Amino acid sequence: MTWAPIPPGSGFGIENLPYGVFAPPGRRARVGVRIGDHVLDLRAALGEEEFARPALNDFLARGREFWTATRDRIVELLTDRGRRDRLGDALYPVSDVSVRLPIEVADYVDFYAGERHAANLGAILRPDSPALLPNWKHLPVGYHGRAGTVVVSGTPVTRPCGQRRSAADPAPVFGPSRRLDVEVEVGFVVGVPSALGKPVPTADFEQHVFGICLLNDWSARDIQAWEYVPLGPFLGKSFATSISPWIVPLDALTAARLPVPPQDPEPLPYLRDSRPWGLDLRLEFALNGHIVSRPPYARMYWSPAQMLSHLTCNGASLRTGDLFASGTVSGEAPDEFGSLIEITWNGAHPVRLPGGGTRTFLADGDVVTLRGTAPGPGGATIDLGAVTGRIGPADVQP
Ligand code: CA
Repeated sequence: MTWAPIPPGSGFGIENLPYGVFAPPGRRARVGVRIGDHVLDLRAALGEEEFARPALNDFLARGREFWTATRDRIVELLTDRGRRDRLGDALYPVSDVSVRLPIEVADYVDFYAGERHAANLGAILRPDSPALLPNWKHLPVGYHGRAGTVVVSGTPVTRPCGQRRSAADPAPVFGPSRRLDVEVEVGFVVGVPSALGKPVPTADFEQHVFGICLLNDWSARDIQAWEYVPLGPFLGKSFATSISPWIVPLDALTAARLPVPPQDPEPLPYLRDSRPWGLDLRLEFALNGHIVSRPPYARMYWSPAQMLSHLTCNGASLRTGDLFASGTVSGEAPDEFGSLIEITWNGAHPVRLPGGGTRTFLADGDVVTLRGTAPGPGGATIDLGAVTGRIGPADVQP
């Protein structure tokens, strides 16, 4: 039992302990761990210099042994009642602090590891062809995104401008996106780098990856549709990617592991794993406070270790602060789909909102919030926090 106050039903109990970066009022940003509705200042509680920094990177670079030892020390501090008085000054209500981007993002990669999402997009965009392209079950498809525009939850998202050309347009036009969408995803945070030229085998996943966050891969479908052939997503994705502020360690997710769905055909040897595991994460997509869908992560086809192994199989190196995302999480039913293009089937079936409004894609002023939970040890719930963003009008030059 922890002496720290935990509100009833909180998913931020002693089993979770996610890491973030926060600034107390009028003071510099530093590393903390969330417990209940408070955040523990780790520099004050543990003394290490890594925790005085405005990003988790120096802590992440220390590696798994240090991560686990630190977690053990935090659990000890928060369960030993004798420490309560001394640590009181290091504990801040979350509502009193400013929460920052938790990592300095090095490289950012986005995968496409959900079979149902890939099949839905195939059916919508290429109705006369097989839903999955021939490579999809042989490799985790992905692309390199823009690390510098990964932003923390709460950062406003300006509607992007770009080129688009619909079937009715005789020529491309430039202007604000009319088909702005969300993609409900999970992000994986790399701590320990790898050497250039040396692939990371699936078995080494836990030596490199520290934890997970929620991620919204905002997507301008009209810009994407016109630009993506033949090199893939570019400006339709790179304007903003939002992540949740609390990085949940893999150490908190052992009870959430489950086997990935059967993989047929068998992957090539470098993608094989003795027991490939996924995560039983229950996600939630809310639009203006109304829950639109509940995507289940458990059915994702490629495991996180397979994604990392594929990312490095050509010898590309990892850096501390690398972030790779899963791709859109979609379950079998429309109320489990992780994007509006799927939920509305490319705009054919608008979402009805309480109060009478409808949406095909996002309107200015809309607020999107993704949440998630995982099963914890002993029946506990692990809260992944939330990632939210409000759509602001395009910055149109007069
Ligand atoms: Ca995506």
